[in-house]
Amino acid sequence: MLSNFPIPHPDETLYSLVARYGDWLRYPSHKRLFREVFGAETGTATIEFPSRLAAFMSRLPVGHPCAGPSLLVEHTLLPWYSPFMPDDRVGRLRSAMLGDGGGAAPGLVGLQASRVRVPAFLRFCPECFREDHRDGHELYWRRLHQVTGIEACPRHAVWLADSPVPRLDRVTRHSFEVPADGLRDVEPVRVGRTGESLLRVARLGERLLLPEWPSLPLEVLHRNLHCLLAGAGYSFPRGRTIRARRLVEAVCEHYPHDFLRKLGGTSWIHRLIHSPRGVQSPIRWLAMLGFLGVELEALFDPGQREMIQAKEGPGCRNPVCPASGRATCFWRSEFSSDLDAEVDLFRCEACGRVVGRCPKSREGEWVRDYGALWRKRLAALWGDPGQSLRGLSRALRVDPLTAKRQALKVGLAFPRRGKRETTTRGLADMLRSRLDRVPSLRKRWLGARTKHPDLGTKALRQKHPALYASLYRLDREWLVANQPPRVPRAPGLSRVDWVKRDQRLSNDVIGTAEQLRKVPFRPRRVTATAVIRAAGAISWLPKLDKLPKTRKALRKLEEGRLRFARRRVEHLVAESVAEGRQLRAWQVQRKAGLRLELVDSPELRGVVDGALARLAVAAERN
Ligand SMILES: [Zn+2]
Ligand SMILES: [Zn+2]
Repeated sequence: MLSNFPIPHPDETLYSLVARYGDWLRYPSHKRLFREVFGAETGTATIEFPSRLAAFMSRLPVGHPCAGPSLLVEHTLLPWYSPFMPDDRVGRLRSAMLGDGGGAAPGLVGLQASRVRVPAFLRFCPECFREDHRDGHELYWRRLHQVTGIEACPRHAVWLADSPVPRLDRVTRHSFEVPADGLRDVEPVRVGRTGESLLRVARLGERLLLPEWPSLPLEVLHRNLHCLLAGAGYSFPRGRTIRARRLVEAVCEHYPHDFLRKLGGTSWIHRLIHSPRGVQSPIRWLAMLGFLGVELEALFDPGQREMIQAKEGPGCRNPVCPASGRATCFWRSEFSSDLDAEVDLFRCEACGRVVGRCPKSREGEWVRDYGALWRKRLAALWGDPGQSLRGLSRALRVDPLTAKRQALKVGLAFPRRGKRETTTRGLADMLRSRLDRVPSLRKRWLGARTKHPDLGTKALRQKHPALYASLYRLDREWLVANQPPRVPRAPGLSRVDWVKRDQRLSNDVIGTAEQLRKVPFRPRRVTATAVIRAAGAISWLPKLDKLPKTRKALRKLEEGRLRFARRRVEHLVAESVAEGRQLRAWQVQRKAGLRLELVDSPELRGVVDGALARLAVAAERN
């Protein structure tokens, strides 16, 4: 069980999370770390396409932010590739990553065929690292910075730098490395005017990773690209023929030579415009958009109706809908892990009913959400004792059991009064999970709200992730109705009494750090993040600039690598003395997880020597 797996930062790669976990626990061997995290010995520590993610997720504690579908979306490069791949391939890529098919991934995204090379080293933005440090957490590897063709940090407009950690030609393929602290001292280099074109590509890249792009057929993307090229004057008047040579020349002039070399030359430009079904590396699409000076929206525009005809929805079959019978619109697609396939969702604008469609499912089409209008009608009929269950179901065009299920779901009263009483017969499975657990879940949630009256939904959810997840699944409507109120903030008026909060929190962190240092078993490094998390105040971390006392206290409490190493040695000595064990120098190094560069520092050498002496004295006494 990975009970202390770190909480991810925005855009952090899974590689980085595993590295931080291994670093924190001082794993003696990469292989053991790999086995504990992924449940297997074979595999590679990869940025691009980690696999065995299902096994990994099952090892996390319930409610950990990495234990759900957001892992793939927020901490792997899946969203980088998926908008440019056919749906069925996205499904296969997902399964490969969840299972042990990591090796198949590069082929699926077309990387093997393309000449886009992976950067040789893990890369970073010095400004981002400085910010990490200033915000009091560990440095971490970001996803975007590791992508070929992303040369600058879009947030700071500085060039990315190579770290000493190699991605290619590694000695051991299991090793996960954290960024060395010293990397934040690397001097950032601003992107000048000549680098504007690359900065634009990086900005497009940053937006591409947001989970908001539709999955459109490649033909649609292709057609949109042709429209954009025509608009920029790269097709002959009234023709669909592209002036390819002029285009290539202009692209070469727009970007530095080195950038195009990393993208594998210029021959991809022909393939991009001429083969509508070919899978192309996303960075090439971005390079083309950057060249044309347009945003991602222009490419991902579903466009005229003809383009999405392939996804024309079924007619709305809601009998109480004013637009009943009219075709519904394609809304979005989502991945269903039950079906292991993409599901298209169609939504009726008039009544909110959502229908799912997937050729892989038994039904083909099914109602995903009956919609607010339908539910309102259900509630009205339910409360009318003159209505029989059968009549009510007929009016709503569902079978009686479905009507009952929906009634239970929205919390209508059981048994229902009528000529014949409607009981919960047939709903045993739903009831068991609901009625058993829901009341206590509700009570706990309300308790948490009372205990933390000043926390918003997000913070409360972070405090009680498992509770929130259960309520979300079993009792969503109630949860939404019982979230902390959103208080609109008057401009210039702060809701929080910062001075008071600062006073309290600074006291809290001092006490908490004390406790952290006393934790038995493995010593744990006292970092600002660890302290503030243990104090139950992780949500205040981004607000530290408003909490000067707390910030100062944290800075004082924070343990450097050396101080932490010394504490580990002391802990080891105490433990060994208690157990009457004798250790040699190398065993101290190994068991306390001292890195070579640390052992060589004179200060620590003194500590280790002292420890050995104390152990020898203790051994004599025995
Ligand atoms: Zn940056
Ligand atoms: Zn409708």
